[in-house]
Amino acid sequence: MIKICKFGGSSVASAEQFRRVKEIVESDRDRRFIVVSAVGKRFPEDNKITDLLLLVNAHVTYHVDCQMLLDDIKARFVEIADELGVTWPVAEKFDAFAKNIKQHSPEYIVSRGEWFTAHIMADYLGFPFVDAADVMIFHHDGTVDLERTAIRVKDAVQRKGSFVFPGFYGSTVEGSIKLFQRGGGDITGAILARCLNAGLYENWTDVSGFLSADPRIVENPRSIHRITFDEMRELSYMGASVLQEEAIFPVREVNIPIQIKNTNNPEAEGTIISETADPGVDEHLITGIAGKRDFLAVHISKAHMSTEVGIVRKALSIFERYRISIEHIPTGVDSFGIVVNSADVKDSIYQIISDIRKEISPDNVSVVDKLALVTVVGRNMSKRSGTSGKIFGALGDAGINIRLITQSSQEISIILGVDNADFERAIKVIYDKFVAGEIVRRG
Ligand code: ASP
Repeated sequence: MIKICKFGGSSVASAEQFRRVKEIVESDRDRRFIVVSAVGKRFPEDNKITDLLLLVNAHVTYHVDCQMLLDDIKARFVEIADELGVTWPVAEKFDAFAKNIKQHSPEYIVSRGEWFTAHIMADYLGFPFVDAADVMIFHHDGTVDLERTAIRVKDAVQRKGSFVFPGFYGSTVEGSIKLFQRGGGDITGAILARCLNAGLYENWTDVSGFLSADPRIVENPRSIHRITFDEMRELSYMGASVLQEEAIFPVREVNIPIQIKNTNNPEAEGTIISETADPGVDEHLITGIAGKRDFLAVHISKAHMSTEVGIVRKALSIFERYRISIEHIPTGVDSFGIVVNSADVKDSIYQIISDIRKEISPDNVSVVDKLALVTVVGRNMSKRSGTSGKIFGALGDAGINIRLITQSSQEISIILGVDNADFERAIKVIYDKFVAGEIVRRG
């Protein structure tokens, strides 16, 4: 089976981490195509090489000397290479790059984090290095030219048999370096997996996959072993992020599963993300709970609204005029709400309300501020009746007032609005009642 194995910044942050990567790669013969991020943080206050390179670029732009920064970056690479006995001439190559720093484009400078890291890794593993600039080809609109890239990736596989590939960048057809967005090494891995029709995309990071709740809120939450792409989108959107979200699209379209694994604990099962999690396995009622604070809801009611055509559109177009993006639209028969991020409307909310009054003539408009949204996600919820009622009951018993309720269209999530002050308690109550100690139904 072809596996694409992507190692994130913390997995390549030191010589010790490189050793772990080598052990992981050598423990499975299918792990022949490796993607790396740039050397990342060894401890929370440490610097990521990519951040330092962005700083170098800022210095170059404003014609400020950055020799000290360059020396720091070089020292990190040299230290790792020396400790591992790498023979690829890191110092020499770095000096050549630094000498001409003013001639390089910003994207070229920032991409060198993965370029150096991949060279060191290739030498250490004894694998060929393949440069993303020769393979990952971008259209001029910034999207990847999948056809051209697939031809080049397959060619590299045929010629080399295995490789280490730098994440995060590629080039235009003319050859100038282009970057993905931050965290884009995950996207590189996904695109390679797709181009090679891989059986699995392994994404190695520093956590053992997705957790069913935020560990800062719930003590030792259950790990999620299997999750669908849709469920993951819902959880990531509400803040439970492990993977760069854009990375799921290339593999999702062709049904390649992603497995999140922990470089520091390779035995842990991690999380498998796929289109439809296998029925019969992990039949939990609730997959995970996530949430965010600081939303605001505008409630609009008008008698006989249900028969008036275009009223929701009119309300939405008012928000559009102020360039406010809308999170949710809970609806009743003669009323509906519009939920937005509080920060987005802090300067415009009074104007918006006044426009709504003028243009819609509602019976009533009210604003509820300081709302937190809690999303309860579970592909199995739609199969079992009464789940939402039980969730509301549990929150009611705990004295938590539910300010609004909506459900995603595929019925895989229920979104509850509670006061900011009740946010953590709401998550704990739902977790304790439905996740902790749940007896798992199988089959
Ligand atoms: N090195 C890049 C960043 O820090 C890309 C990545 O880590 O995936 O954003």
